Amino acid sequence: MKFHVSDLIRKKRDGQKLAKAEIQFLISEYTKGTIPDYQMSAFVMAVYFQGLDFQETTHVTQAMIRSGKVMSLSDIKKPKVDKHSTGGVGDKVSLVLAPLIASCGVCIPMISGRGLGHTGGTLDKLESIPGLRTRVSVEECKKQLKEIGGAMIGQTAEIAPADKKMYALRDVTATVDSIPLIAASIMSKKLAEGLDGLVLDVKFGNGAFMNDFKKAEKLAETMIHIGKRSSIKVIALLTDMNNPLGEYIGNSLEVIEAIETLKGAGPKDVMNVTIALGELMLEIARMKGGRKLLEQKIASGEALHKFKEIVSYQGGDIRVIEDYEQLPVAQHRIEITAPKSGYIHTIDTFQIGMSLVKLGGGRLKKEDKIDPSCGFKIHKKIGNFVKKGECLIEIFCDNNRRANVVAEEIKNVFTIQKKSCRQKRLLREIIY
Ligand code: URA
Repeated sequence: MKFHVSDLIRKKRDGQKLAKAEIQFLISEYTKGTIPDYQMSAFVMAVYFQGLDFQETTHVTQAMIRSGKVMSLSDIKKPKVDKHSTGGVGDKVSLVLAPLIASCGVCIPMISGRGLGHTGGTLDKLESIPGLRTRVSVEECKKQLKEIGGAMIGQTAEIAPADKKMYALRDVTATVDSIPLIAASIMSKKLAEGLDGLVLDVKFGNGAFMNDFKKAEKLAETMIHIGKRSSIKVIALLTDMNNPLGEYIGNSLEVIEAIETLKGAGPKDVMNVTIALGELMLEIARMKGGRKLLEQKIASGEALHKFKEIVSYQGGDIRVIEDYEQLPVAQHRIEITAPKSGYIHTIDTFQIGMSLVKLGGGRLKKEDKIDPSCGFKIHKKIGNFVKKGECLIEIFCDNNRRANVVAEEIKNVFTIQKKSCRQKRLLREIIY
């Protein structure tokens, strides 16, 4: 081997800067399997504590891109724009936005990830649709984009495979919430898509990886910096994740809520984030129409039709769109009620995300299989009044043992006080 892996781990552990060749070596050998998980775990933990500077983060991103192919979409004449979220609880916006933007005539080659830590993943949600394939080759994806203008797929061995492997490792080694690792992970996937522009939903608050607003700003700036180095236009919208997004959390339940949103009947917060991100995507694509166009595509049913096209193209059962019974949804429910009357002041959104993992809706180990049927319905958000005995949150889970453990755990996620409390401002800042 060109370098000793333990020397590189030690160097980073001791806060030293790594050279481009050292980073390239670590990422490419890990992708090939010659560096084992235990050494990469130690390395990402060293990064977690010591960080990476802009230059190192850019080298990691480029090494991850080089681990696979870059899609060439130059023969598609439409503007090519994507969106990515840094991860939140109940965040099903991608499922709505991809078909919505494609229905406006923008090409959207969306490569998403799986659940990570306490946050859900678009791929896991999509795969709750019977038959739907997210493993699509670059060639197949290009064909799909040419024909219908939108795709929602996962990383294959071809696209940023280094990120795919490291993402799964970070998920189970408590190394997710690191600014350079998140930035490199997101940007490697997105830069491999051959885009003209990218809109980022950077979340802050107790349900996001960055609790702190300032850290979320730094994450946004890091990704914008990487985008500039690669000559693609990146805009970030900072959104509040102190409340779960929407009313439902859990894979199948979120697919249903996304379909409802595409039908114009979804919750206001999901719609507001979707439209705000959509407007920025149209701006990057230099397309006119803005909010009005987006609302019209929902009202006319064109966005929903595009969702149907994408699902069908990827082998999914389109009956789910009209008949939610075709989706796996747990029948056993437990209601958690308010112990007293008052206003909701805080929600421990991180805990709700972790409890979903415990129900089976996320992974504790890399190889864990997801139960798409379980989840939660949130009945109250910050600022709402609740009466004693009223339902705060409902658990959906057919595994009674898990449901009971989680019921104990989430009893205390809401803090209720007599004095009133303001609702959270969802859309906080746009960074160019
Ligand atoms: N989304 C990603 O793709 N990667 C991360 O590390 C976090 C969120």
